[in-house]
Amino acid sequence: MKRTVIALLIAVMAAPLLWGVWRWSYNEALDQLEVRGQGSLSLASDRLVSQFARYRQLPVVLSDNPVLRDAAVRNPKESFQDISIFLEHVADVTGALDILLLDRSGITLAAANWQEGSFIGVNFAGRPDFVRAMNGALGFYHSQENADDPRGFYFTTALREDAGNITGGVSIKVDLEALEVEWRGDPEIIFFTDANGVIFIANRQSLLLRVYGDYDALMSNETESGRYVRARLQTMFPFVEDNKFGHTRWVQSGDAEIPLRSLYLKTPLPVIGMTGNILLDLRPVEAQARLRTALVAAFLVMLGLFIMNLQQRRRILAERLEIEEKSTAELEIRVAERTAQLRSANDNLVQAGKLAALGQMSAGISHELNQPLAAIQSYAENAVILLERERMGEASKNLDKISSLAGRMGRIIRNLRAFSRKEGEPATQVDLVKVVEDTLELAGIRLREKHVVVHWVKPAAPVLVNGGGVRLQQVVLNLISNATDAMEGQGDAQIWIDISRNGAVYLKVRDNGPGLEDKDKIFEPFYTTKPVGKGDGMGLGLSISYGIVQSFGGQIVGENHPGGGAVFRIELTPAEAV
Ligand code: ADP
Repeated sequence: MKRTVIALLIAVMAAPLLWGVWRWSYNEALDQLEVRGQGSLSLASDRLVSQFARYRQLPVVLSDNPVLRDAAVRNPKESFQDISIFLEHVADVTGALDILLLDRSGITLAAANWQEGSFIGVNFAGRPDFVRAMNGALGFYHSQENADDPRGFYFTTALREDAGNITGGVSIKVDLEALEVEWRGDPEIIFFTDANGVIFIANRQSLLLRVYGDYDALMSNETESGRYVRARLQTMFPFVEDNKFGHTRWVQSGDAEIPLRSLYLKTPLPVIGMTGNILLDLRPVEAQARLRTALVAAFLVMLGLFIMNLQQRRRILAERLEIEEKSTAELEIRVAERTAQLRSANDNLVQAGKLAALGQMSAGISHELNQPLAAIQSYAENAVILLERERMGEASKNLDKISSLAGRMGRIIRNLRAFSRKEGEPATQVDLVKVVEDTLELAGIRLREKHVVVHWVKPAAPVLVNGGGVRLQQVVLNLISNATDAMEGQGDAQIWIDISRNGAVYLKVRDNGPGLEDKDKIFEPFYTTKPVGKGDGMGLGLSISYGIVQSFGGQIVGENHPGGGAVFRIELTPAEAV
């Protein structure tokens, strides 16, 4: 609906533009056509006048002929018959249709075509060319005396005796049809009209002897009637002459030889008393205007389509952006929700992992606590006996031993409590050396049980890192337990632990066990190669460690050592860098 309205609006706006283009092209082509038409018309007129030129001279030349001058006074030395033969010869040579010798009163005395249909005896006194000749000028005139006669153009001049008096005249008749033959094939339609508007010369047969003017007035005018055979005159076929863009346009449909629409031009030819006319076909002009208008219209349509396409693309893009923005926002919300879920799940897992580790250690721990307890009991019993026997020195030594054993038990229990506590505080400064020490203490029982030799290169000074003590302890304990598990049943089990600094702080735990089966999978939750169900393999230890180290801004990687066994490297941020 909206698009249709826009298209209509554009069409309404484009209409005057297209009309302007059409008008401009039409006018331009019309101007060119007019220039060409003027050229053709003046060429045709010049041709006609120059064709007449040689005949104009003929009566003048003949009027000097003494025989003719003599004959005109009606008592010639030679017979009129001989003079007619002479004139016939001249006509043959010059191509004139007829040559007449007239006396002073206009009666034909001799004629070139004396043999058939001759004018001998016919009086031409009233004819304008004769009248002009008798006044001493060169007279010219056009006429068709009889219906079957060819259309003729006459040039008449006076004959004078030596004293200069006019004695008669010589008249040359030119055959117009013979002249027309030369320009029948011209593409433009050219015709010549006389003062009455009668088309007397034309390069199209159908136009000849039509009255291009007031037919009725001409037919009722007695004085002009002698020039043509009235019955042969015809009205012009129906046409409309209008003015288009300052040019005269001819529209007709009555004659197949004439274009339907033409440009009409005319030029006066006073030398022969006629007007030259030309009709030029307007179809090429119209075609050119149409073509240009169509081109501009096509261009406008293309422009319109292009703009519409552009707009549509912009709209689609905007819609897509909107959708993307919406889905991004939704995604962000979902990610935030999921992150929160995962975080709480992770917290739970950390705790679960710790408890699992505790469970794993509990046997060792109870053993570790039982041993000093048993020792304390026997030391205490001994001390009682020694006190009864008043052996104070030895009793005091026993009590010292009891005190140190109780201290050791207290340390173990403190460690356990700290480990099992849920640590939620943010990361702080932690001494990594102490973390390793505490962990070794926790794991000590199990390590000894499994005959694992630990190589711990303890740095001389504390190494402070960004992290949480208990959580880091959990990570290290997990690495040590995994190594111990991996080397289960293997003689010569060893673990190397060291701390190094290189911008970041690195804690490395290496063993000489079988190495990692699939190092790409170890950090995946629930990935385990340990028998499930036996209580030891949950596949959570490393994934929890991974999360813990990351939450301190650190990294943990595990790979196989070229010298055998697995090596885990934890990268941590030094405390002073935070
Ligand atoms: P779990 O110990 O419950 O199997 P972990 O995530 O701690 O889960 O370990 C995943 C797996 O990584 C172990 O099952 C084991 O296959 C492998 N792994 C971990 N540490 C070592 C090691 N030091 N040597 C060989 N394999 C190890």
